[in-house]
Amino acid sequence: MSAVAIIVGGGSGERFGSGVPKQFFPVAGKMVIEYSLAAFAAAPSIESIVAVVPPSLPGSVLDTIFSYRKVSAVVPGGKTRHLSVLSGLEAVKETPAVILVHDAVRPLIDVETIEELVSAAKEKGAVIPAIPVSDSLKHSADGKKVEKTVQRNHHFRAQTPQAFRADILRESARNAKERGLDCTDEAQMVELAGYPVFLLRGGEKNVKITSPHDMTVVKSLLGTYTGEFRVGLGYDAHRLVKGRELYLGGIKIDWESGLLGHSDGDCALHAIADAILGASGLGDIGYYFPPDDESIRGIASTEILSKVARMIEGRGERIVNIDCVIICQRPRIADYAERMVASISRVLGIEGAAVSVKGKTTEGMGFEGSGEGISSIAVALVEKEKGGD
Ligand code: MG
Repeated sequence: MSAVAIIVGGGSGERFGSGVPKQFFPVAGKMVIEYSLAAFAAAPSIESIVAVVPPSLPGSVLDTIFSYRKVSAVVPGGKTRHLSVLSGLEAVKETPAVILVHDAVRPLIDVETIEELVSAAKEKGAVIPAIPVSDSLKHSADGKKVEKTVQRNHHFRAQTPQAFRADILRESARNAKERGLDCTDEAQMVELAGYPVFLLRGGEKNVKITSPHDMTVVKSLLGTYTGEFRVGLGYDAHRLVKGRELYLGGIKIDWESGLLGHSDGDCALHAIADAILGASGLGDIGYYFPPDDESIRGIASTEILSKVARMIEGRGERIVNIDCVIICQRPRIADYAERMVASISRVLGIEGAAVSVKGKTTEGMGFEGSGEGISSIAVALVEKEKGGD
């Protein structure tokens, strides 16, 4: 047996403008982790692949992972990356010469690099791809004032896959476990066990996706970034009645009346949901949540908005920002806007800075002015994916 790859994608809580963990985010019709699965499956020296994933993944995602050649096990990850790697290591039942550990969020790894790392690890014991730091390096404890300039020519950025002789990696993992060490990467674990780790020239293309910008870089490198954006508009109004709780902008407001509706009546969230669907060319919420559907009577509008956001993500699109105006004489929206922004950004999985909520009165005119009802207008900007229509 030659080499086994552990692909680590155990993180589930990290969000970066998406409710989907980034290793499962769709790019050009495939999930991010699939690009790594394909590369390792195509590498001649790789005999089998162990994938470490978040617990309780949908069956369809597990099926997709298992559909890749050489995948021998899919195991749940631990609380930290280090624990996820240990869990992956336990699932390696074979006795390979070399074990590689790769981040699932580095989709652009290529077969050539994998092969180079396997042969180098056989010879040297522990090898990692790394690139020299090209920017000037400054040291600052408080992130404000520079204390000194660091000699950058002795500094390298470590990438993955990191490749180790199996006996060295196993021995280092035992050592880390006994000493209760939590390591930033496997190279550190091996260093701490007293083994030398060698560098191999990595590639700038082997990007680690940690931010929306990295995703754009990956899409550009794959040739699927369109730079195309669409705007959508949404409007909604509901009647204010006594004896109903007031839900507005994704929060509950202690108020004398509430909005009437088949759902909780939150016209701001309905306008936002319609704006997003409009930008994506998917119609409106009346189609997906019809008012005559008894099964969704009383549904929270946060649930409606969350479902809409997941639909957008499923198409590989990204909500860039939202602007929403709530029109009423009372209550004073400015008093609640901050909480509304927090709620909406949490439901959509985007930064608070990308959501704006503001109130407008009508100087007493019309149904909003008289307190008969509340209305809302919203716009949404959505980044399109190549191939999307
Ligand atoms: Mg409505």
